[in-house]
Amino acid sequence: MARYTHASIDLAALSYNFAAMCDFSPNSKQVVVVKADAYGNGAVATAKHLQDKADMFAVAFLDEVFELREAGIQQPILVLQGPHREQECELTNSLNVIWLLHTEQQLNWINKRIENNEIDNLHHWVKFDTGMHRLGLLLKDYESFHREYRHIFHSKTVVATHLATADEPENDLSALAINTFIRAMKGRHGCLSIANSAANICLPSAALTWNRMGISLYGSSPFEHDELAVDLKPVMQLHSEVIALRQIEAGESVGYGATWTAEKPSLIATVALGYADGYPRQAPIGTPALFAGERAHLVGRVSMDMLTFDVTHLQQVDIGTPVELWGKNLSINTVAKHIGTIGYELMTRISKRVPRVYL
Ligand SMILES: *Cc1c(COP(=O)(O)O)cnc(C)c1O
Repeated sequence: MARYTHASIDLAALSYNFAAMCDFSPNSKQVVVVKADAYGNGAVATAKHLQDKADMFAVAFLDEVFELREAGIQQPILVLQGPHREQECELTNSLNVIWLLHTEQQLNWINKRIENNEIDNLHHWVKFDTGMHRLGLLLKDYESFHREYRHIFHSKTVVATHLATADEPENDLSALAINTFIRAMKGRHGCLSIANSAANICLPSAALTWNRMGISLYGSSPFEHDELAVDLKPVMQLHSEVIALRQIEAGESVGYGATWTAEKPSLIATVALGYADGYPRQAPIGTPALFAGERAHLVGRVSMDMLTFDVTHLQQVDIGTPVELWGKNLSINTVAKHIGTIGYELMTRISKRVPRVYL
């Protein structure tokens, strides 16, 4: 590669995080969530690396299954949004997918096919809404669905819900949703799934038969509050380098729109990464990065292919100085906070143009 800019992906850190997360709930089985190209880290590489340890993988929709199967991943793959189209149901057996069914229409599509022996009576998953109001059947309809779709609701069916506030463990809504769900399923289903990363860490009552873990495996804390930080190792490290340097005078400005003006003579470093690489254009003046390990701040607007930083205070910056945008020495959550977003978004937005280099 001619441009140095790349994202290094530390697979040893991925294993470390997986083990650390399993320690919170040794009696649960773990679904490794690899949707959105494993949050930007590479779905195939992630799944291959964890295939001997994970009980199941999960993606958001069927399109994301194909590359995993082409790469030879054998585990069942849970499709978190269920089938979007009825024809997708025909691929259930050949792709060995498990649908997380969340509408009556989906129950109907699958129930009909099991009845006609077109697909196996696999233990599908069914999702209920316990307050997030995004996806899921209503608990009050449980009895009627159970009667109507008896090929789906049986002893091996996994019944799931998703919490709106798992990353705020002190929020009463979490306990309310967990209790409502567990009470509603008592005596009906033994296989339950509630916890995502955040819940697995700090809501023990949500860690049941199956957990569904994403962000924590990639080494970013699911919590915005630092006091809830857990010992995870960053998997993605975003690297670039300085491709130009210039001295400017007080009163001169930098970048499109001339949004930043130097108050004193300043040294400006131009870095080979921009919004076309997925670095957010809304990153404000002051967003940090590390130049050979030393912190400097973004000045001027993010361009399509470049960033500009004020490195006046640094001793040794040159063309070719390595830049860490986030990673082991500057946490993705710190950068996200400056930009007004979360680690999840920064990670998933890194575009195809940035090569992933696996360590
Ligand atoms: C993405 C997703 C998860 C994983 O959540 P993390 O916060 O990344 O651990 C779990 N369950 C569902 C339904 C999801 O969509």
